[in-house]
Amino acid sequence: MSAIPVIALHGGAGTILRSAMSTDAEARYHAALGDILRAGQRVLADGGSALDAVTEAVRLLEDCPLFNAGHGAVFTAAGTHELDASIMDGATLDAGAISCVTRVRNPVRAARRVLDVSEHVMFTGAGAEAFAQAQGLQFVDPSYFHTDARYQQWLNARGQSGTLLDHDAATRAAQESHQTGEDDPIDPKKKFGTVGAVALDARGHLAAATSTGGMTNKQAGRVGDAPLIGAGCYANDATCAVSTTGTGEMFIRMLAAYDVSAQMEYRGLTLQAAAEDVVMRKLPRIDGRGGLIAVDARGNVTLPFNTEGMYRGFARVGEQAVTAIYRS
Ligand code: ASP
Repeated sequence: MSAIPVIALHGGAGTILRSAMSTDAEARYHAALGDILRAGQRVLADGGSALDAVTEAVRLLEDCPLFNAGHGAVFTAAGTHELDASIMDGATLDAGAISCVTRVRNPVRAARRVLDVSEHVMFTGAGAEAFAQAQGLQFVDPSYFHTDARYQQWLNARGQSGTLLDHDAATRAAQESHQTGEDDPIDPKKKFGTVGAVALDARGHLAAATSTGGMTNKQAGRVGDAPLIGAGCYANDATCAVSTTGTGEMFIRMLAAYDVSAQMEYRGLTLQAAAEDVVMRKLPRIDGRGGLIAVDARGNVTLPFNTEGMYRGFARVGEQAVTAIYRS
């Protein structure tokens, strides 16, 4: 008998402290994750493919300003938005990705079109936008991606050196403003996070998708793990589907998403053991912070992270959606 279809999501990982989050904000995150899980669940319940379920879930996450992808994406050091996304089909190993787009409303849709119609796997910058335009995808003015909370977060990050994970930036800003007694420059109800989805459908196929604005104050032109197949996204029916979130450079160096699959294939590890090894042992060795979500062909789900929190959840068809933020 085939496993019950299931979808899992993440909305980013980082320093997500209970103390810096109001009950109201928590409720909003749980509600957003729950609604989007149910939308993905419906696709799967109606016999839709894992690929369609993750495309739809990530599209909805991109449209939600609570998360760092699409509307609500972080700012680059140049004060712009550069968006990355990827998607992979575990049944065929087809993949699509785009990076550094500035006007495509839903980067995951562009990645999906690359998977569906292009002989190539990845487009970047102007070429990616030309591809998306030729595919008739929706374009927006770059100001569509701007949110005041993200802008404030960027102003704070500019005073520090380097790049910040979105949740770290939001938490730091909130804490500093409390310390100085100023009004909180970041509405704690509006923290954001990179997004991803993995799913198993009724036919036993797996898929994964990831989408992000990247890291706050990243250098213009910087590409993280999210659009890189094998680093931020990977799916193979023989093993698992994985979407990651965290300090992208380390996930690239560790080929994090593929490594989960490889450890299942070559070492015979279970999904959970392989994912734990990557997130709790290998990534920390090179200072890699973050987490991942993964599902295998038996419907096992694992959501490990090595930060204080990760917005996450999963829903099996016919069952209640489960959502979480902090370590239990
Ligand atoms: N992994 C993303 C990047 O490096 C950031 C994140 O997950 O928040 O672009």
